[in-house]
Amino acid sequence: MGRITEFFEGTDHGLYFTCRSFFRVADTVISPKLLQVHDHQHNDRRVFLSEEKNDNLIESIICKLYIVYVDPDDIPQAKDRLISNSDFYYDMCYSVACSTFANMRAENDGAADIDTTSDISCEEGKPVADLVTYSLLDLYSGCGAMSTGLCLGAELAGIKLEAKWAVDMNSHACESLKHNHPSTQVRNEKAEDFLSLLQQWNALCKKYVIHGSNSLGSDLAQASNNDENDENEPLPKDVFEVARLVDICYGDPNKTGKNGLWFKVRWKKYDASQDTWEPIDGLSGSYECFKEFVQSGYRDSILPLPGSVDVICGGPPCQGVSGFNRFREHDDPLKDDKNKQLVVFMDIVKYLQPKYVLMENVVDILKFADGFLGRYALSRLVAMNYQARLGMMVAGCYGLPQFRMRAFIWGALPSMVLPKFPLPTHDVIKRGLVPNAFSRCLVAYEETTNKHLKKALVLEDAISDLPKVQNHQPNDVMEYGSDPKTEFQRYIRLSSKDMKDHSFVDARTKEGKLFDHQPLQLNNDDHERVRQIPVQKGANFRHLKGVRVGAKNTVELDPDIPRALVSSGKPLVPDYAISFIKGKSSKPFRRLWWDETVPTVVTRAEPHNQAILHPTQHRVLTVRENARLQGFPDYYRLFGPIKEKYIQVGNAVSVPVARALGYSLGQALRGEFVGDQPLFKLPEDFTCIGQARATGSSVGVVETE
Ligand code: SAH
Repeated sequence: MGRITEFFEGTDHGLYFTCRSFFRVADTVISPKLLQVHDHQHNDRRVFLSEEKNDNLIESIICKLYIVYVDPDDIPQAKDRLISNSDFYYDMCYSVACSTFANMRAENDGAADIDTTSDISCEEGKPVADLVTYSLLDLYSGCGAMSTGLCLGAELAGIKLEAKWAVDMNSHACESLKHNHPSTQVRNEKAEDFLSLLQQWNALCKKYVIHGSNSLGSDLAQASNNDENDENEPLPKDVFEVARLVDICYGDPNKTGKNGLWFKVRWKKYDASQDTWEPIDGLSGSYECFKEFVQSGYRDSILPLPGSVDVICGGPPCQGVSGFNRFREHDDPLKDDKNKQLVVFMDIVKYLQPKYVLMENVVDILKFADGFLGRYALSRLVAMNYQARLGMMVAGCYGLPQFRMRAFIWGALPSMVLPKFPLPTHDVIKRGLVPNAFSRCLVAYEETTNKHLKKALVLEDAISDLPKVQNHQPNDVMEYGSDPKTEFQRYIRLSSKDMKDHSFVDARTKEGKLFDHQPLQLNNDDHERVRQIPVQKGANFRHLKGVRVGAKNTVELDPDIPRALVSSGKPLVPDYAISFIKGKSSKPFRRLWWDETVPTVVTRAEPHNQAILHPTQHRVLTVRENARLQGFPDYYRLFGPIKEKYIQVGNAVSVPVARALGYSLGQALRGEFVGDQPLFKLPEDFTCIGQARATGSSVGVVETE
């Protein structure tokens, strides 16, 4: 199916036409397989105008079709009329570059070159252009790295974006987020329960706020009315009186085995420690408290309502695609409960209808089962009439000594400008396989382009200023003890104020202190092993006594010498190190080196099967060192047991990546992007904006007493 753009006679005197193709959904990256997924549907008369053109002989024309353009901004009746009078309709373009589905605005603007933003809109002295605050919901928020970066980046584009709500089922991650974003409504619950809660809350708001307090008649109000008559009667001895309601949730907080809507009650004459969760029908006598809770909750936006959210971001976990998981559902990855959160994420988007969506995930969603889950995510967005665009970004390309490639998908309502992906600022060599159907989704310069990129960062740039700590480090707050040595260190030590992080206005901040510079404490055996790993580049368990490297770079125990032991009597070189990846790996107990880019910061800190040892100290990298590799500002504190802190850091979206994406979102919100190119260039000074503004109040400056 196509649009004829030209007729011509060939040199062979044949008659030809040039045709610009229309793609059906199944012809796009979404693929026919997704049409079998029944939780969403595409209009089978919808097609997408592609940029692909080809020449054909006139005889190959089969028939004429009537394909109309439908403006997404038209009223539904007008759209329906147009569509019903045509064979097919189109409202968006499709391009394989970054798997883009975009409305036609870009086509009409017509600029072809890579879009360059030359200036940062909020330089020193220049006011933030927009006084509107845009609201952000961070789903599967972890400790909040993604929303932190997005807000920082939007700010640089002159847009005030505020993480109003965050949801995560991990209580430690929620604690971290709450500390670093005191004004965010942090909800420690499962995303699926959150969705049910949103639906119930919307109904309550409609009933008790929108339709006013006179619309009694519910069971609840009825019960309340009856009770009012008894107001003066003394309460039986063991009856508690509700002072007020303080929270709401959907789920099973009292572990009754049944999910439902619950309210947290503060009892008269009791303090918060005696609060209990009560079901709605248990509150029949407290109509006024109930109404007051819903009305004030509505006023304070304790929960988002459909249409009230500007941006939803999140990384729904898809553990069913992980290479480590042996029981993967190849035929229908959505059947696997471990991938269910992708569906929940899209259901929440569908319910709240935000202006923008940004989803993050591991690149495996584009590889596993021919990229089924990546295609599903795009399919859901497009079926909901969102514009969509997919990109794979490498963290190191945005100024970190870490490789880490992740997939991101933008969604934007048709009335909004679809964000582009920010091109790299740093020259990191891309490694790893880029999945086939998505090969044009890597966010990178063409190899031939003159790029002017900054040199890739190495470990030394990120952590060389941090004080020496032992394997056992009991304190999570300490002095820096020295000044920053590199540009990165100066930047990462900036105070929240200098970084323009408005979410953090907490008087409890211990300015000038270093947080979370603690390593996971190795047990005595491992510590003894680590002390014997030489302090040199590339050193690992292969350098320990009794190991030899045989044919094909495979390790084995040296049969000529007795097996070396640690003081406890256990082998110096454990069996698992020898057998890891059939003896081919050099990762167990490997030291990182100053001049290296770290592959990917993960959630575990054990040195048994990954390179995580400090170059010169006999310990693993500390939580803070890992946090630096992920680009967390030093003022960002982590909470929970140390293993949980590593998990929060390892799960995070690298802050500089999120920050670059936030800038891109800000530009889109300002309507700045022109042209249909999917990528844009960040301003020259993007990565060192912080330093330019550093005023000496950086958290790294130690006050001498
Ligand atoms: N985007 C975050 C990291 C997210 S990691 C950041 O940048 O910091 C994924 C998170 O999903 C984890 O914190 C995990 O606790 C949470 N999670 C997993 N299943 C969940 C569920 N069903 N509901 C809510 N959160 C869930």
